[in-house]
Amino acid sequence: MILTLKKNVSKKGIERVVKKVKELGFSPHISKGEERIVIGVIGENAILAREIFEAMDEVDFITPISKSFKLASREFHPKDSIIDVEGIKIGGKEIVIMAGPCAVESKEGLLKIAEFVKKNGAKILRGGAFKPRTSPYSFQGLGIEGLEYLKEAKKKTGLKIITEAMDTRHLEIVAEYADIIQIGARNMQNFSLLNEVGKIKKPVLLKRGISATIREFLMASEYIMKEGNYNVILCERGIRTFETETRFSLDLNAIPVIKKLSHLPIVVDPSHGTGNRDYVVKMSLAAIACGADGLLIEVHNDPAKALSDGPQSITFPQFKDLMSKAKKIANAIGRNV
Ligand code: PEP
Ligand code: MN
Repeated sequence: MILTLKKNVSKKGIERVVKKVKELGFSPHISKGEERIVIGVIGENAILAREIFEAMDEVDFITPISKSFKLASREFHPKDSIIDVEGIKIGGKEIVIMAGPCAVESKEGLLKIAEFVKKNGAKILRGGAFKPRTSPYSFQGLGIEGLEYLKEAKKKTGLKIITEAMDTRHLEIVAEYADIIQIGARNMQNFSLLNEVGKIKKPVLLKRGISATIREFLMASEYIMKEGNYNVILCERGIRTFETETRFSLDLNAIPVIKKLSHLPIVVDPSHGTGNRDYVVKMSLAAIACGADGLLIEVHNDPAKALSDGPQSITFPQFKDLMSKAKKIANAIGRNV
Protein backbone atom coordinates (compact mmCIF):
# COMPACT_ATOMS: atom_id res chain seq x y z
CA MET A 1 0.00 0.00 0.00
CA ILE A 2 1.07 3.59 -0.55
CA LEU A 3 0.86 6.24 2.14
CA THR A 4 0.62 9.77 0.76
CA LEU A 5 1.71 12.12 3.51
CA LYS A 6 0.17 15.51 4.19
CA LYS A 7 1.64 18.46 2.30
CA ASN A 8 3.67 20.13 4.99
CA VAL A 9 4.67 17.12 6.99
CA SER A 10 7.77 17.70 9.13
CA LYS A 11 10.96 15.64 9.08
CA LYS A 12 10.01 14.30 12.51
CA GLY A 13 6.58 13.33 11.18
CA ILE A 14 8.13 11.37 8.32
CA GLU A 15 10.41 9.61 10.78
CA ARG A 16 7.43 8.69 12.93
CA VAL A 17 5.64 7.05 9.98
CA VAL A 18 8.80 5.21 8.89
CA LYS A 19 9.28 3.94 12.45
CA LYS A 20 5.72 2.65 12.56
CA VAL A 21 6.14 0.83 9.22
CA LYS A 22 9.24 -0.91 10.56
CA GLU A 23 7.63 -1.70 13.93
CA LEU A 24 4.87 -3.56 12.11
CA GLY A 25 7.46 -5.66 10.27
CA PHE A 26 7.16 -4.03 6.85
CA SER A 27 9.76 -2.19 4.83
CA PRO A 28 9.30 1.52 4.05
CA HIS A 29 10.26 2.86 0.62
CA ILE A 30 10.21 6.61 0.42
CA SER A 31 9.63 8.50 -2.82
CA LYS A 32 9.90 12.28 -2.78
CA GLY A 33 7.71 13.96 -5.36
CA GLU A 34 7.68 17.70 -6.09
CA GLU A 35 4.88 18.37 -3.63
CA ARG A 36 4.32 15.22 -1.66
CA ILE A 37 6.18 12.48 0.06
CA VAL A 38 4.85 8.99 -0.47
CA ILE A 39 5.88 5.92 1.44
CA GLY A 40 5.47 2.48 -0.03
CA VAL A 41 4.69 -0.04 2.70
CA ILE A 42 5.97 -3.35 1.42
CA GLY A 43 5.45 -6.74 3.00
CA GLU A 44 3.04 -9.62 3.10
CA ASN A 45 -0.49 -8.50 3.99
CA ALA A 46 0.63 -4.90 4.48
CA ILE A 47 -2.88 -3.80 3.57
CA LEU A 48 -4.19 -5.32 6.84
CA ALA A 49 -2.41 -2.52 8.70
CA ARG A 50 -4.36 0.11 6.77
CA GLU A 51 -6.38 1.33 9.73
CA ILE A 52 -3.27 1.91 11.85
CA PHE A 53 -1.85 4.25 9.23
CA GLU A 54 -5.20 5.91 8.58
CA ALA A 55 -5.18 6.97 12.21
CA MET A 56 -1.83 8.74 11.91
CA ASP A 57 -1.90 12.55 11.64
CA GLU A 58 0.90 12.63 9.07
CA VAL A 59 -0.95 10.41 6.59
CA ASP A 60 -3.25 12.17 4.14
CA PHE A 61 -4.57 9.16 2.23
CA ILE A 62 -3.83 5.53 1.45
CA THR A 63 -3.78 3.79 -1.91
CA PRO A 64 -3.67 0.00 -2.07
CA ILE A 65 -1.39 -1.34 -4.82
CA SER A 66 -3.30 -3.94 -6.72
CA LYS A 67 -0.35 -5.18 -8.79
CA SER A 68 1.97 -7.96 -7.69
CA PHE A 69 4.88 -5.67 -8.48
CA LYS A 70 4.74 -2.65 -6.22
CA LEU A 71 7.86 -0.47 -6.24
CA ALA A 72 8.14 -0.86 -10.02
CA SER A 73 4.51 0.12 -10.55
CA ARG A 74 3.20 3.44 -11.82
CA GLU A 75 0.89 3.50 -8.83
CA PHE A 76 3.87 3.86 -6.49
CA HIS A 77 5.65 6.39 -8.69
CA PRO A 78 3.36 8.06 -11.26
CA LYS A 79 6.13 10.03 -12.97
CA ASP A 80 8.78 8.46 -15.21
CA SER A 81 11.91 7.56 -13.28
CA ILE A 82 15.09 9.08 -14.62
CA ILE A 83 18.25 7.15 -13.83
CA ASP A 84 21.40 9.21 -13.51
CA VAL A 85 24.51 7.45 -14.80
CA GLU A 86 27.27 9.88 -13.82
CA GLY A 87 25.38 12.76 -15.44
CA ILE A 88 23.87 10.78 -18.35
CA LYS A 89 20.12 10.69 -17.79
CA ILE A 90 18.22 7.58 -18.86
CA GLY A 91 14.45 7.87 -19.04
CA GLY A 92 14.27 11.57 -19.89
CA LYS A 93 13.91 13.35 -23.22
CA GLU A 94 17.20 12.07 -24.57
CA ILE A 95 17.40 8.60 -26.08
CA VAL A 96 20.68 7.20 -24.82
CA ILE A 97 22.79 5.07 -27.12
CA MET A 98 24.90 2.31 -25.55
CA ALA A 99 27.13 0.68 -28.13
CA GLY A 100 30.18 -1.53 -28.39
CA PRO A 101 31.27 -5.10 -28.96
CA CYS A 102 29.43 -8.09 -27.53
CA ALA A 103 32.61 -9.08 -25.69
CA VAL A 104 35.77 -7.19 -24.86
CA GLU A 105 38.31 -8.99 -27.05
CA SER A 106 41.49 -6.90 -27.01
CA LYS A 107 42.60 -3.50 -25.81
CA GLU A 108 43.28 -2.15 -29.31
CA GLY A 109 39.99 -3.45 -30.72
CA LEU A 110 37.98 -2.03 -27.84
CA LEU A 111 39.61 1.39 -28.09
CA LYS A 112 39.00 1.52 -31.82
CA ILE A 113 35.29 0.73 -31.35
CA ALA A 114 34.94 3.05 -28.35
CA GLU A 115 36.44 6.00 -30.20
CA PHE A 116 34.22 5.40 -33.22
CA VAL A 117 30.93 5.07 -31.33
CA LYS A 118 31.80 8.07 -29.17
CA LYS A 119 32.51 10.21 -32.24
CA ASN A 120 29.14 9.22 -33.65
CA GLY A 121 27.04 10.00 -30.62
CA ALA A 122 27.07 7.03 -28.24
CA LYS A 123 27.17 7.97 -24.55
CA ILE A 124 27.83 4.57 -23.03
CA LEU A 125 30.24 1.81 -24.05
CA ARG A 126 29.00 -1.78 -23.84
CA GLY A 127 31.26 -4.83 -23.70
CA GLY A 128 31.15 -8.06 -21.76
CA ALA A 129 34.17 -9.21 -19.76
CA PHE A 130 32.29 -12.13 -18.22
CA LYS A 131 30.26 -13.74 -20.99
CA PRO A 132 27.27 -16.09 -20.65
CA ARG A 133 27.82 -18.29 -23.71
CA THR A 134 25.49 -21.04 -24.90
CA SER A 135 28.45 -23.37 -25.43
CA PRO A 136 31.04 -23.84 -22.69
CA TYR A 137 33.63 -24.17 -25.50
CA SER A 138 32.98 -20.68 -26.90
CA PHE A 139 35.03 -17.65 -25.84
CA GLN A 140 34.06 -16.91 -22.24
CA GLY A 141 35.41 -13.36 -22.00
CA LEU A 142 38.63 -11.85 -20.68
CA GLY A 143 37.38 -11.45 -17.12
CA ILE A 144 39.22 -8.87 -15.03
CA GLU A 145 41.63 -8.10 -17.88
CA GLY A 146 38.56 -7.09 -19.93
CA LEU A 147 37.36 -4.83 -17.12
CA GLU A 148 40.76 -3.10 -17.17
CA TYR A 149 40.41 -2.41 -20.89
CA LEU A 150 36.95 -0.96 -20.32
CA LYS A 151 38.42 1.34 -17.69
CA GLU A 152 41.06 2.48 -20.12
CA ALA A 153 38.46 3.09 -22.84
CA LYS A 154 36.46 5.18 -20.38
CA LYS A 155 39.51 7.23 -19.51
CA LYS A 156 40.35 7.83 -23.17
CA THR A 157 36.85 8.60 -24.46
CA GLY A 158 34.77 9.69 -21.47
CA LEU A 159 32.16 7.06 -22.34
CA LYS A 160 30.43 5.49 -19.35
CA ILE A 161 30.66 1.71 -19.06
CA ILE A 162 28.02 -1.00 -19.05
CA THR A 163 29.20 -4.56 -18.49
CA GLU A 164 27.65 -7.79 -17.25
CA ALA A 165 27.89 -9.42 -13.84
CA MET A 166 27.17 -13.11 -14.27
CA ASP A 167 27.19 -14.22 -10.68
CA THR A 168 27.44 -13.00 -7.13
CA ARG A 169 31.13 -13.97 -6.86
CA HIS A 170 32.11 -11.36 -9.44
CA LEU A 171 29.56 -8.72 -8.56
CA GLU A 172 31.83 -6.63 -6.37
CA ILE A 173 34.64 -6.45 -8.90
CA VAL A 174 32.27 -5.75 -11.82
CA ALA A 175 30.61 -2.99 -9.78
CA GLU A 176 34.01 -1.37 -9.27
CA TYR A 177 34.47 -0.88 -13.01
CA ALA A 178 30.89 -0.59 -14.30
CA ASP A 179 28.78 2.55 -14.36
CA ILE A 180 25.83 0.29 -15.16
CA ILE A 181 25.80 -3.34 -14.06
CA GLN A 182 24.16 -5.52 -16.69
CA ILE A 183 22.14 -8.54 -15.58
CA GLY A 184 21.78 -10.85 -18.57
CA ALA A 185 18.64 -12.49 -19.89
CA ARG A 186 19.67 -15.89 -18.55
CA ASN A 187 20.02 -14.43 -15.08
CA MET A 188 16.76 -12.48 -14.98
CA GLN A 189 15.39 -14.86 -12.36
CA ASN A 190 18.65 -15.51 -10.52
CA PHE A 191 17.09 -14.19 -7.34
CA SER A 192 20.22 -14.30 -5.22
CA LEU A 193 22.05 -12.21 -7.83
CA LEU A 194 19.10 -9.78 -7.98
CA ASN A 195 19.11 -9.45 -4.19
CA GLU A 196 22.81 -8.67 -4.21
CA VAL A 197 22.64 -5.99 -6.94
CA GLY A 198 19.76 -4.55 -4.98
CA LYS A 199 22.17 -3.87 -2.13
CA ILE A 200 24.53 -1.92 -4.39
CA LYS A 201 23.35 1.56 -5.24
CA LYS A 202 24.74 1.56 -8.80
CA PRO A 203 22.44 1.62 -11.84
CA VAL A 204 21.46 -1.83 -13.02
CA LEU A 205 20.29 -2.79 -16.50
CA LEU A 206 18.05 -5.83 -16.19
CA LYS A 207 17.48 -7.78 -19.40
CA ARG A 208 14.23 -9.59 -20.03
CA GLY A 209 14.52 -13.36 -19.72
CA ILE A 210 14.33 -15.39 -22.92
CA SER A 211 10.95 -16.87 -21.97
CA ALA A 212 9.80 -14.30 -19.43
CA THR A 213 6.44 -12.59 -19.53
CA ILE A 214 6.33 -8.85 -18.95
CA ARG A 215 4.91 -9.48 -15.49
CA GLU A 216 7.75 -11.83 -14.55
CA PHE A 217 10.18 -9.23 -15.89
CA LEU A 218 8.70 -6.54 -13.65
CA MET A 219 8.69 -8.90 -10.66
CA ALA A 220 12.41 -9.48 -11.23
CA SER A 221 12.99 -5.71 -11.10
CA GLU A 222 11.02 -5.68 -7.85
CA TYR A 223 13.64 -7.98 -6.28
CA ILE A 224 16.31 -5.36 -6.93
CA MET A 225 14.19 -2.43 -5.80
CA LYS A 226 12.95 -3.99 -2.60
CA GLU A 227 16.59 -4.10 -1.42
CA GLY A 228 16.75 -0.31 -1.84
CA ASN A 229 18.30 0.07 -5.28
CA TYR A 230 15.80 2.04 -7.35
CA ASN A 231 18.26 2.65 -10.18
CA VAL A 232 16.83 0.00 -12.44
CA ILE A 233 16.80 0.23 -16.24
CA LEU A 234 14.83 -2.46 -18.05
CA CYS A 235 15.93 -3.92 -21.38
CA GLU A 236 13.79 -5.71 -23.96
CA ARG A 237 16.13 -8.07 -25.85
CA GLY A 238 13.79 -10.45 -27.65
CA ILE A 239 11.97 -13.56 -26.52
CA ARG A 240 11.87 -17.13 -27.77
CA THR A 241 8.94 -17.83 -30.07
CA PHE A 242 8.23 -20.42 -32.80
CA GLU A 243 9.93 -18.14 -35.34
CA THR A 244 13.32 -19.32 -36.58
CA GLU A 245 14.17 -16.72 -39.24
CA THR A 246 15.44 -14.46 -36.47
CA ARG A 247 17.43 -15.46 -33.38
CA PHE A 248 14.73 -14.14 -31.03
CA SER A 249 11.52 -12.19 -31.56
CA LEU A 250 12.02 -8.60 -30.49
CA ASP A 251 8.86 -7.83 -28.54
CA LEU A 252 8.31 -4.13 -29.14
CA ASN A 253 4.85 -4.47 -27.59
CA ALA A 254 6.71 -4.59 -24.30
CA ILE A 255 7.74 -0.94 -24.61
CA PRO A 256 4.30 0.74 -24.46
CA VAL A 257 3.02 -1.96 -22.10
CA ILE A 258 5.85 -1.40 -19.63
CA LYS A 259 5.51 2.38 -19.96
CA LYS A 260 1.90 1.99 -18.89
CA LEU A 261 2.54 -0.41 -16.01
CA SER A 262 5.81 0.97 -14.70
CA HIS A 263 7.79 4.17 -14.20
CA LEU A 264 11.12 2.50 -14.96
CA PRO A 265 13.03 3.42 -18.12
CA ILE A 266 13.24 0.76 -20.80
CA VAL A 267 15.85 0.37 -23.50
CA VAL A 268 15.88 -2.00 -26.46
CA ASP A 269 18.59 -4.40 -27.61
CA PRO A 270 17.91 -5.03 -31.31
CA SER A 271 21.15 -7.02 -31.70
CA HIS A 272 20.08 -10.04 -29.64
CA GLY A 273 16.45 -9.33 -30.55
CA THR A 274 17.10 -10.11 -34.22
CA GLY A 275 20.45 -11.91 -34.27
CA ASN A 276 21.16 -10.52 -37.73
CA ARG A 277 22.86 -7.21 -38.55
CA ASP A 278 20.64 -6.73 -41.61
CA TYR A 279 17.67 -6.05 -39.32
CA VAL A 280 19.34 -4.10 -36.51
CA VAL A 281 19.07 -0.57 -37.93
CA LYS A 282 15.39 -0.93 -38.85
CA MET A 283 14.39 -2.42 -35.50
CA SER A 284 16.40 0.27 -33.67
CA LEU A 285 14.37 2.95 -35.42
CA ALA A 286 11.14 1.11 -34.63
CA ALA A 287 12.20 0.91 -30.97
CA ILE A 288 12.75 4.66 -30.83
CA ALA A 289 9.42 5.30 -32.54
CA CYS A 290 7.51 3.23 -29.95
CA GLY A 291 9.04 4.93 -26.93
CA ALA A 292 12.31 3.23 -25.98
CA ASP A 293 14.54 5.33 -23.73
CA GLY A 294 17.73 4.00 -25.25
CA LEU A 295 19.37 1.36 -27.39
CA LEU A 296 21.93 -1.27 -26.47
CA ILE A 297 23.69 -2.19 -29.70
CA GLU A 298 26.54 -4.48 -30.67
CA VAL A 299 29.03 -2.76 -32.97
CA HIS A 300 32.30 -4.26 -34.24
CA ASN A 301 35.10 -2.93 -36.44
CA ASP A 302 35.40 -6.36 -38.11
CA PRO A 303 32.30 -8.44 -37.31
CA ALA A 304 33.51 -11.41 -39.36
CA LYS A 305 36.36 -11.83 -36.88
CA ALA A 306 34.32 -11.14 -33.71
CA LEU A 307 34.78 -13.74 -30.96
CA SER A 308 31.15 -13.44 -29.96
CA ASP A 309 27.91 -12.50 -31.76
CA GLY A 310 29.58 -11.41 -35.03
CA PRO A 311 26.50 -12.02 -37.23
CA GLN A 312 24.41 -9.54 -35.24
CA SER A 313 27.13 -6.92 -34.72
CA ILE A 314 26.69 -3.92 -36.99
CA THR A 315 29.60 -2.42 -38.92
CA PHE A 316 30.94 1.12 -38.51
CA PRO A 317 29.10 2.44 -41.60
CA GLN A 318 25.85 0.85 -40.35
CA PHE A 319 26.27 2.53 -36.98
CA LYS A 320 26.80 5.89 -38.65
CA ASP A 321 23.70 5.37 -40.78
CA LEU A 322 21.71 4.33 -37.69
CA MET A 323 22.70 7.44 -35.75
CA SER A 324 21.69 9.84 -38.49
CA LYS A 325 18.30 8.14 -38.96
CA ALA A 326 17.78 7.79 -35.19
CA LYS A 327 18.07 11.56 -34.78
CA LYS A 328 15.27 12.12 -37.30
CA ILE A 329 12.91 9.60 -35.71
CA ALA A 330 13.63 10.96 -32.24
CA ASN A 331 12.96 14.54 -33.37
CA ALA A 332 9.69 13.47 -34.98
CA ILE A 333 8.42 12.28 -31.58
CA GLY A 334 9.74 15.25 -29.62
CA ARG A 335 12.88 13.59 -28.27
CA ASN A 336 16.53 13.69 -29.16
CA VAL A 337 19.46 11.30 -29.47
C1 PEP B 1 24.85 -9.43 -24.21
O1 PEP B 1 24.33 -8.31 -24.04
O2 PEP B 1 25.91 -9.60 -24.80
C2 PEP B 1 24.08 -10.63 -23.77
C3 PEP B 1 24.70 -11.75 -23.47
O3 PEP B 1 22.75 -10.42 -23.76
P1 PEP B 1 21.54 -11.38 -23.27
O4 PEP B 1 21.75 -11.61 -21.82
O5 PEP B 1 20.35 -10.54 -23.60
O6 PEP B 1 21.61 -12.62 -24.10
MN1 MN C 1 26.06 -10.55 -27.37
